[in-house]
Amino acid sequence: MNGRLPCAPEPIFELADGSLEPEREREVRAHLRGCRDCQTLYERELRLNASLGSLEFEAPRPVYRDVVMALPTRSVKARLLWAALALVLLLVTSATLILYGANLAVPVVDAIGVFWGFVAGLADVVQVVFAAVGAALLIALGAGALVDLVIAAVYLSVSRRRAREA
Ligand SMILES: [Zn+2]
Repeated sequence: MNGRLPCAPEPIFELADGSLEPEREREVRAHLRGCRDCQTLYERELRLNASLGSLEFEAPRPVYRDVVMALPTRSVKARLLWAALALVLLLVTSATLILYGANLAVPVVDAIGVFWGFVAGLADVVQVVFAAVGAALLIALGAGALVDLVIAAVYLSVSRRRAREA
């Protein structure tokens, strides 16, 4: 026992928590300066609080970080712009593919995607666009082949009918 206060753990815990009134805190601190046992208890409580605090902070942190990473970092406007850009890329790719064939379209789309990837620093968006563009390329190739088949079939049937009528 030292000073006016008796040795008591509760005020020491409260001091470590920082939940003491300023006047009471001064009293407890004054006691701690003269009482090695209470000083030791106080330091142990501080360490415990620190480790508990870091535990509480560490545990939800990965989840929190994931949520933050998953959250849209850009405005709705920017996301709409990205969607529009993806759509334009798809249309340009399809048009280029239909007009000039796949050999020209792929490097053009690659260049546009890499450019926008650098500009926006959004590799994942570029990946999504590439995936969509890849699908569009396949669909356009398939559609082109189908159209060719239909044209060939119509041409054949028309020319056969003409040949028959002639
Ligand atoms: Zn004491």
